[in-house]
Amino acid sequence: MNRRGFIQQSALAGLGVITASTMIDLNAEIEPAQRMPALFIGHGSPMNAIEQNVFHQEWQRLGRELPHPKAILCISAHWMTPGTRVTAMDIPKIIYDFYGFPEALYDAKYPAPGAPQLAEQTAGLVKGNAVTRDFDWGLDHGTWSVLLPMFPKANIPVYQLSLDMNAPPARHYEIGKELSALRNQGVLVIGSGNMVHNLGRMQWTDAAYDWAREFDERCRMHIEAGDVQPLIDYHKMGSIASLAVPTAEHYLPLLYILGLREKSESLCWFNEQVTMGSISMRSLMLG
Ligand code: ZN
Repeated sequence: MNRRGFIQQSALAGLGVITASTMIDLNAEIEPAQRMPALFIGHGSPMNAIEQNVFHQEWQRLGRELPHPKAILCISAHWMTPGTRVTAMDIPKIIYDFYGFPEALYDAKYPAPGAPQLAEQTAGLVKGNAVTRDFDWGLDHGTWSVLLPMFPKANIPVYQLSLDMNAPPARHYEIGKELSALRNQGVLVIGSGNMVHNLGRMQWTDAAYDWAREFDERCRMHIEAGDVQPLIDYHKMGSIASLAVPTAEHYLPLLYILGLREKSESLCWFNEQVTMGSISMRSLMLG
């Protein structure tokens, strides 16, 4: 495991293509050097929001070291919809979308403002079916459990994009590409899920199943090699994929972040750990 010393890897060619139209619309006033990093974060248990464990501490460190974002767009495993939606309210409510946790977790607050103008712009970037503006959702725990340690002041506008559960994995990757211009506007894009996530096989130990380690390792190797297609076609990995990704929602946010990857962009790993047997916390930062 390499937590403090990030592994620097060069991305390979053919990744993160910015379309001509988005270049013209959004990149004119901003230097490429100001491009925001993009993150995939393995969020794991909601308790990571308030427990002083290694994952929480790493999120705190990221918040101290990242460039200050103008806004944060989160694609969370916990917002699944037919079609793509974007939160467009001025003040998103915090959603306690879990059961049976200690009272302290329900006392957590994250009163960040929304980002309606950016939501509108984001909807315009996504091609194909129209993106629905949403005024009911808010910030689910895939978003706020990570942001609470990262940006505890809750003073950065936050909005979410949903997972269209009717779309195939390749479409989620394409949407990530379409969002690329946001990074030049000071928007920190976060995919929040887990590369390996099987609640049915979870156990209360730090040991990991062999299949969980193997799938996690294959993800690492393909990402480092810039080999996106096997990650889009993850189900072709056979029985380890069925065990590691029994349902797609925690895996799909990764594909958005891989879609945002630019040619020759640095890749850093953090929280490289399989925990509770069947939950990979492996996380990455691009740029
Ligand atoms: Zn989750």
